[in-house]
Amino acid sequence: MRPNFNVGWTAGARQEAPIILQQISPDHTRSGPHAGTDTPRPHDVAVDIGGTSWSVATWRNNGLHLVGSGTTGTASPGDLVELRATFQQACVSAITESPAPLRVGVSFPGSVNSSGVVVAWPNRPLWIGWRLREVLGFPPGVAATMCDDGVAAILGEGMLGVGRGVADFLLVSFGTGIGGGVLLDRRVRPAAHDARTIGHIRALGTDRLCRCGHRGCLQTALETLPDDEGLARQGLTTWPDGMRLVDTLSDLARVLGVPTVVLTGGRLRRSALRQTLTSAMTAAGLRVLVPIDTEGSALLGAFLAKEPLP
Ligand SMILES: [Zn+2]
Repeated sequence: MRPNFNVGWTAGARQEAPIILQQISPDHTRSGPHAGTDTPRPHDVAVDIGGTSWSVATWRNNGLHLVGSGTTGTASPGDLVELRATFQQACVSAITESPAPLRVGVSFPGSVNSSGVVVAWPNRPLWIGWRLREVLGFPPGVAATMCDDGVAAILGEGMLGVGRGVADFLLVSFGTGIGGGVLLDRRVRPAAHDARTIGHIRALGTDRLCRCGHRGCLQTALETLPDDEGLARQGLTTWPDGMRLVDTLSDLARVLGVPTVVLTGGRLRRSALRQTLTSAMTAAGLRVLVPIDTEGSALLGAFLAKEPLP
């Protein structure tokens, strides 16, 4: 059973214009009735490409339907045959079901230039130089939009998920790295895209090298993440980097005046990690929201991506 959803905003990424909240009517659910006419119409097909895994979904009967998912890992983008096949299957399915022009949204963690070529992805540098449309095997002439994965997660959870009705929150996504962003004063921040998001705040007292080339980035805390037994038994006392991570995120939220944190990402399938982070941030005075499907936030937001994919 997925949570109910009822608030949204228009958004995009990789653009200078501010992304501003837009109220929509209630009764919108991921698998239930559609919202009012002011609800942005989700795209027909959504793709989320993460450093660990990818997923493809279609939007049918006013709900998300997962078509398939698989491993991204360190494979060359050209070798992701199953991703291309699944995406093309989803497109064919959507085209068959609706006479309207197909619309596709893509959530992607890296930076893409005006030709649609990946120019930066600190966690997966092998992707640099590849054109996203070719990696996915786009049918010719199909309109597509894209979104930074952190922004997509904010959109997905804020519009359709646990963050509905919340004007300001800090979203932190625990995946291959740590991503996320801020909804502040009804605007998604940062609006301009930079692949180095929350996970690359240099706040750890360590010389550990991050994939971005800097040292001390928050996401390198994941390299010392204890096993579940240790976390469950000792909490953050067994994970000093995690303690610093939580302190930094809590300070950030406090300074910004944002009382709510949304925690998401595939790593939060680990209940010990989920509970440890939730407890620590709650103790820091924050309201913590965690979606039931912590792997689906960016995929959900990809249905609302607005920046054109060249
Ligand atoms: Zn970094």
